[in-house]
Amino acid sequence: MLNTSPDILIVGAGPAGLGCALALQACGLKPQVVDAKGIGSTFENWPQQMQLLTPSFHSNAFGNVDLNSITPETSPADFLHTQHPDGKEYARYLRALCAYYELEVHTPVRVERIENHSGSFKVYTNSGILSPRFVIWAAGEFGQPHDGGITGSELCLHNSKVRDWKELAKTGHKFSLIGGYESGIDAAIHLMQAGSEVHVLSRGEPWGEDDPDPSRSLSPRTRDRLRSALLDSCGSVRFYKNADIVSVQINALGYELRDTEGTPFLSPTPPILCTGFRNALEPIRELWEWKKGLPVFTESADESTVTPGLFYSGPALTHRSMLFCFIYKYRSRFGVIAREIATRLGQTWEEPLRLWRKRGFMMDDLDCCTDCKCAVESDAAENPEAADYASTAR
Ligand SMILES: Cc1cc2nc3c(=O)[nH]c(=O)nc-3n(C[C@H](O)[C@H](O)[C@H](O)COP(=O)(O)OP(=O)(O)OC[C@H]3O[C@@H](n4cnc5c(N)ncnc54)[C@H](O)[C@@H]3O)c2cc1C
Repeated sequence: MLNTSPDILIVGAGPAGLGCALALQACGLKPQVVDAKGIGSTFENWPQQMQLLTPSFHSNAFGNVDLNSITPETSPADFLHTQHPDGKEYARYLRALCAYYELEVHTPVRVERIENHSGSFKVYTNSGILSPRFVIWAAGEFGQPHDGGITGSELCLHNSKVRDWKELAKTGHKFSLIGGYESGIDAAIHLMQAGSEVHVLSRGEPWGEDDPDPSRSLSPRTRDRLRSALLDSCGSVRFYKNADIVSVQINALGYELRDTEGTPFLSPTPPILCTGFRNALEPIRELWEWKKGLPVFTESADESTVTPGLFYSGPALTHRSMLFCFIYKYRSRFGVIAREIATRLGQTWEEPLRLWRKRGFMMDDLDCCTDCKCAVESDAAENPEAADYASTAR
């Protein structure tokens, strides 16, 4: 039964919410997790052919935890026996953790609004009002597709709405994709493999970028897959760089796309938007401070600077221009959030979180990352497409 006054409420039963819950549970706390749809629902809704691009490999015993694991002691590779789990497989890993660790997860419970008056939370859900002491927002981005600011975007299909690329390929022969980062190239590969003629139109030339941070350039896996698809698939692809599409309309011949120069491009099928997602904190925007279009997090514990007691975990996390958009990045803060909440609740954390720290799930020294070449100024605020996994997908 839903506790209306839990110490800790976690909104979202994806990898971020569950990872925080497990770190808190290790400290002897009993967080209550709620999810509008179900455990791992985002992954359940990925297109059939989509797989995690970050590889899984169970080298935990040697101190190198599987990149897609959300605890220091488990491994999706070991559990699922695959290197690149698809959405359904990864959701199975998340459900298995909930069962094994007996996490308290309530579904379907949708959080509709959060208010904070004089330090007290009121969380409005479809199952009543909750009054937790602490809230961790881990509601993800997948439910909030970004339209790329394109006039006529309602005529397009956002890539997150596609359930099966093979089925989509049966609805036409020529497809145009707007956006050329990870999700755009992933879509192009699936459509080519299904025999389609694919046209990728993008701002800049993202497929040509060479940044040491995989959040800012195509991953090695995607490059490998693209090379294979170019050699082996029965479809074709053409890339259009510096094609900043601003409008889509229907004419007698199909869908007419126009870029900032007014150059037209004709697509017989609805254009596919690979323009990312809105920031994960948009639904509770007023509870955060925003700078340059991005929410501000405390460095000590990823807490809101204007609503004490409200924390965030997930791919929209940024610190010092670093994007924590992959699981292996944002999980490095699970222990940091758990430590802060445990301290405030008078619970010991040193010994319980020892493994979390040792295995990179409790990274509190952000200096180590700012020396890295990947800590470059983000242009996510100006160019949503550039933040593919970070805050818009760009
Ligand atoms: C196409 C794509 C591919 C990606 N590939 C990778 C990859 O290979 N490797 C990697 O590390 N990362 C990848 N990512 C990044 C990915 O976003 C994250 O790893 C992960 O999905 C984010 O986890 P999360 O827990 O924050 O959100 P989610 O997994 O989206 O979970 C959020 C949960 O919150 C629930 N929820 C939302 N709103 C509410 C509400 N109001 N009330 C209650 N519940 C709510 C949802 O139902 C959902 O179950 C990818 C992202 C995308 C979009």
